[in-house]
Amino acid sequence: EEPKRLDFVRTIIKEDLQAGKNDSRVHTRFPPEPNGYLHIGHAKSICLNFGIASEFPGGKCNLRFDDTNPIKEEAEYVNSIMEDVKWLGWDWEDRLYFASDYFEQMYQYAVELVKKGKAYVDDLTPEQIREYRGTLTEPGKESPYRDRTPEESLDLLERMRKGEFPDGTKVLRAKIDMSSPNLNMRDPVMYRVLHATHHRTGDKWCIYPMYDWAHGIEDSVEGITHSICTLEFENHRPLYDWFLDELGVHHPQQIEFARLNLTNTVMSKRKLLRLVQEGHVDGWDDPRMPTISGLRRRGYSPAAIRKFCKTIGVNKFNSTIDLALLEHCLREDLNEHSNRVMAVLDPLKVVITNYPEDEFDELDAINNPQDPDAGMRKVPFSREIYIERGDFMEEPPKKFFRLAPGREVRLRYAYFITCQDVVKDNEGNIVELHCTYDPATRGGDAPDGRKVKGTLHWVSAKHGLDAQVRLYENLFNKENPDDTEEGQDFTANINPDSLEVRTGCKVEPHLADVKPEQRFQFERIGYFCADKDGTKDRLVFNRTVGLRDTWAK
Ligand code: ATP
Ligand code: MG
Ligand code: MG
Repeated sequence: EEPKRLDFVRTIIKEDLQAGKNDSRVHTRFPPEPNGYLHIGHAKSICLNFGIASEFPGGKCNLRFDDTNPIKEEAEYVNSIMEDVKWLGWDWEDRLYFASDYFEQMYQYAVELVKKGKAYVDDLTPEQIREYRGTLTEPGKESPYRDRTPEESLDLLERMRKGEFPDGTKVLRAKIDMSSPNLNMRDPVMYRVLHATHHRTGDKWCIYPMYDWAHGIEDSVEGITHSICTLEFENHRPLYDWFLDELGVHHPQQIEFARLNLTNTVMSKRKLLRLVQEGHVDGWDDPRMPTISGLRRRGYSPAAIRKFCKTIGVNKFNSTIDLALLEHCLREDLNEHSNRVMAVLDPLKVVITNYPEDEFDELDAINNPQDPDAGMRKVPFSREIYIERGDFMEEPPKKFFRLAPGREVRLRYAYFITCQDVVKDNEGNIVELHCTYDPATRGGDAPDGRKVKGTLHWVSAKHGLDAQVRLYENLFNKENPDDTEEGQDFTANINPDSLEVRTGCKVEPHLADVKPEQRFQFERIGYFCADKDGTKDRLVFNRTVGLRDTWAK
């Protein structure tokens, strides 16, 4: 589907194609570091990169793992990332790459720069290097090792690779300009010594490339045409360009766009990892997490996430998107595509005193009024049913149109019932209601044309299934979770009531064979999806989102 107006990234690409740049090829990449699970911010980048590849003729998009830091990276993350990209509906086909596959190539390029006198081995400690770098207002200071001959640096670089030096004792630096107004250009580090086992290359390497050095080479080797990244990298672009120009290799164009921020949400993997490690949530796929796997378990559909990414678009200015917009996109999709069922989250028993014991009948219910193809189902009705405790009031205020003593209401798809009696325990708590039904109203309408104001959902007591229902609220109380008192961090803003577990809920028997991630609308309550923790004897549902849309257009 053609977007109405092209965003600035697509405009650049379209112009490049028309100008015949890169032989009129479009080749993007999505380059996650496998140091955590993907989140909704990554989805924005995925939809942009894979979206562009799918929209322009002959467009391609690589999935590339930027696995250059062995300390934080794991195979578990690689697998989850592949699963999440696929689940979102994108396909890298045979274009799966790992930056670690280019370690030898990167090293050879580094040797070239050393030989050209454009890089040198430095013996300063990491602290000294930081100190010598200077600040925005103060120029940097040159390292005393800066004027080493290429021969000496080359020898040291080879010995760094061989493992002769301990961590932190030597680095390879680009020889650019210690007085550049751009701090990134003040002789940035290209390699550091790090005796660590890499999840793919094992112990083959004990020097590892830094991001800025590695990333341009990765893009270049893969023939990427447009290297799309977030705004923080704007002032890294001169360095990206410097490396590729010095090497004289294929030179993709780096384009920066604004990263996604959401209200009441933290997005950085470092913070998400803390939430997991400190037990604030129940794993990366906890339904309160903004990870793709968390959203998936919560009941988000891939289509809802893609629609959200399309709605927010792409631009050059950082902003924070209201979480309500994400939920709005979700509701629109779920309203169209999820089947309706009846579930009672806070059951109150109702005995239909004039309905025969040991009998039941089956009523026709519409699965999805938005989708005629979704068909119909049978819902069993019997003498004892459950309704929502909140749908009855002994002394109803004026605007309460649901059940009350002496009042008649409709049971959805079933009959009109009238409340005759309220049964209480010794402490005065209501334990059940006694009602009568009108058999002539089967299906929900009275032949004599009399009207009722309330329609309630219900579940047959004999047929209903037990369920646990997990009600979620925002994980953070504050719009900006990083807005804290002195000495606190974002965890101080965690909402202590972000999860309420309801047990003893009743759902219609139609849900007996539900599979994890199956999505439903519980009529009158909200959207829910089955959780993987459910068993045959105890179903578990997650509340995805309530029915009421809070997005102010
Ligand atoms: P984090 O800061 O959450 O750790 P990252 O940028 O370090 O994120 P990467 O694995 O390097 O994570 O990200 C892969 C790609 O996803 C990058 O191109 C990055 O720009 C993009 N990306 C990451 N976070 C966001 C975001 N919030 N919005 C848009 N794109 C993002
Ligand atoms: Mg990164
Ligand atoms: Mg990161």
